[in-house]
Amino acid sequence: MSAPPGLARRSGRHTSPPLRRIFDRPAHPYTRGLLASIPRLDNVRKSRLATIEGLVPSLHEMPKGCRFENRCPLATEVCRQRQPALEEVEPGHLVACFHWKEHP
Ligand code: SF4
Repeated sequence: MSAPPGLARRSGRHTSPPLRRIFDRPAHPYTRGLLASIPRLDNVRKSRLATIEGLVPSLHEMPKGCRFENRCPLATEVCRQRQPALEEVEPGHLVACFHWKEHP
């Protein structure tokens, strides 16, 4: 079964909106972390690159809740207990995160 147009599956529940929106309006905390870790030519040596703490879980030991909970700075108890459902950020842009609205 293939994914609907505009929806690519990655890491189980992480989806990809049209590419431009990832850069303009990243909604998922992990996407924000990845974007913050990209070196910028206009900021060379002015600040340290952001890092994402923790390790990617083993496929045999996936967390019960959100797949990112052990590396996410926004994780709460609900993240450890349940997997977030996909929510629409805007047409064609979906996110699976309990707290994406709290950190625009
Ligand atoms: S659901 Fe929770 S742990 Fe998962 S990405 Fe969102 S805030 Fe982080």
